[in-house]
Amino acid sequence: MVNEVNSDEIFDIAIIGGGPVGQYAAYYAGLRGMKTKVIDSLPELGGQLAALYPEKYIFDVAGYAKVYAKDLVANLSEQMMQYDPALALDEKVITLTSEDGLVTMVTQKGHTHYARTAVISAGVGAFLPRKIAQAGLEELEGRGIHYFVNDKSILKGKRLMVVGGGDSAFDWTLNLHDSAQSIVQIHRTDKFKAHEDTIAKVMALPIEFLTFHEVKQVHGEEHVEGVTIFDNRTKEEKYYECDELLFNLGFLTDLGPIKGWGFEIVGNSVAVNSRMETNVSGVYGAGDIVTYDGKLKLIATGFGEAAIAVNHAKAHVDPTAKVGPGHSSENVPKKTF
Ligand SMILES: Cc1cc2nc3c(=O)[nH]c(=O)nc-3n(C[C@H](O)[C@H](O)[C@H](O)COP(=O)(O)OP(=O)(O)OC[C@H]3O[C@@H](n4cnc5c(N)ncnc54)[C@H](O)[C@@H]3O)c2cc1C
Repeated sequence: MVNEVNSDEIFDIAIIGGGPVGQYAAYYAGLRGMKTKVIDSLPELGGQLAALYPEKYIFDVAGYAKVYAKDLVANLSEQMMQYDPALALDEKVITLTSEDGLVTMVTQKGHTHYARTAVISAGVGAFLPRKIAQAGLEELEGRGIHYFVNDKSILKGKRLMVVGGGDSAFDWTLNLHDSAQSIVQIHRTDKFKAHEDTIAKVMALPIEFLTFHEVKQVHGEEHVEGVTIFDNRTKEEKYYECDELLFNLGFLTDLGPIKGWGFEIVGNSVAVNSRMETNVSGVYGAGDIVTYDGKLKLIATGFGEAAIAVNHAKAHVDPTAKVGPGHSSENVPKKTF
């Protein structure tokens, strides 16, 4: 993929954030014949799916009984690239202004991008995994301590401990139990924040699951060799030989520079109306970053929001254009499959 940093060209639409929602927005903009640029601070497309859980299955995207996150990203890229959008990757947008029908975006590299409209699909902004400060953890990060798993083959045949009680922790246990030598999952309470179906599937697995347990100390010199955990009600300790620890304690998120772009911010999100318009002229929003009454942060809902945002942006750029796109089956892409 080509990095597009041509500063002077004015695009019909800039998509800020090339996660799944931004990728789909770029596809839709292409379908509507808009000259499109996608800008992302990461060096690869796919947002959270590519960065945080490429090898996890997603079960709730329409049309797929299950799909690996990385495969969904690849399919979205193929769909989007039919229309050859310009790509400005590894470019974090620092400032955005909208004046006289022109949206101007400056990135941390000092590049300036211009477009008549923009869609903010910046997800949760910059995200960092939540970490705990326990003995041995920082020293062994990357040597048996994981907050992301980009390549699950390194966990094959290993003794794993999965820490956490949310979707990520349960999904990883479900995903890895076939290939790991053994899995122990621990969580600090008996309340879980995961899909009921996934919890039920994990509870039916031949693994050890301990509630009310937390990590006390990680042992090892060059690499993790074992872990001491404790029961937070009785303080009783247990030692497990262990090769790899997967921490899934959630993420700390920050909109960072986006908060200073003049948007109405509600909580940590950008407020939009039912057309996905923000309060900044010509700038729309979609995906995890936006909020409105009834908002759900899901890929499925983000796709719908992207379609709404882009079709309204099309009518903004060209007031003679209809908002409704017609049927995609009648709009044949430039490149055929
Ligand atoms: C472990 C895990 C499992 C999940 N499982 C599911 C599931 O099963 N089903 C489901 O529907 N959802 C799931 N989700 C949630 C789903 O991943 C998000 O809803 C989805 O990624 C939102 O897509 P997005 O495109 O809005 O944002 P993101 O995927 O967050 O992408 C946003 C992109 O914007 C970029 N960006 C941010 N700020 C800037 C900036 N200033 N300049 C340029 N680029 C910027 C980021 O680099 C990123 O690439 C899961 C999430 C996690 C963490």
